[in-house]
Amino acid sequence: MYKQFRCVDGCSDCCKYRQYFPSVKYGKTGVLLLPHEKSKIEEIAQRNKLEIKILPRVGIGRNMMGSGPEEILMYQIMGRETQGDICPFLDTDSDLKAPNGGYRCTIYEERPLACRAYPVNESTNNRKPVLDTRCQFCTANLDIPEKGSLTRELTALKSIKRHVRIDRNTPVWRYATHIGEERDSEKFLPEGWLIQDI
Ligand code: SF4
Ligand code: SF4
Repeated sequence: MYKQFRCVDGCSDCCKYRQYFPSVKYGKTGVLLLPHEKSKIEEIAQRNKLEIKILPRVGIGRNMMGSGPEEILMYQIMGRETQGDICPFLDTDSDLKAPNGGYRCTIYEERPLACRAYPVNESTNNRKPVLDTRCQFCTANLDIPEKGSLTRELTALKSIKRHVRIDRNTPVWRYATHIGEERDSEKFLPEGWLIQDI
């Protein structure tokens, strides 16, 4: 049966938990930010006297030394916990809650495109978008939501894609964050850029 996408009651998982990507050695990723969103997010954090950490995420081309990209295509807001979880803009302290009863995003109206696109990972030409299986709603309803119930998310994803164009012959770099669970720390690469295929 068709089901409208809506956040599961009390859930804030996508604002709390960060993943290793593309593998544990690269460390945990943060919330994806496009270059034009970075200064806006920094300005909001400053306005709210909030300390945040933004690292690069993906770049293309080679710089003069060949030691990093020529152009950075994506940044990321790192979680505020030392193991990389909990978005710094998630309000876990006050009694105010999001409409689903989960923790509240303090910058909801100005949140990054990646947050607006979630839980859509990919849009295909057929009717069903590809959803993130870590989302609580998606785990329970993987085959159910249709494009019509995810219009806002698909529009945000389209906007991200418009900004991130990678030519097949251009070297692609990914930034290793060296952030994650203490038990995994021996597997982490040193923080910095690595060239790779994505
Ligand atoms: S994980 Fe899914 S259900 Fe939970 S808050 Fe995020 S989008 Fe909503
Ligand atoms: S910016 Fe807001 S919506 Fe995005 S991860 Fe942080 S708390 Fe969640």
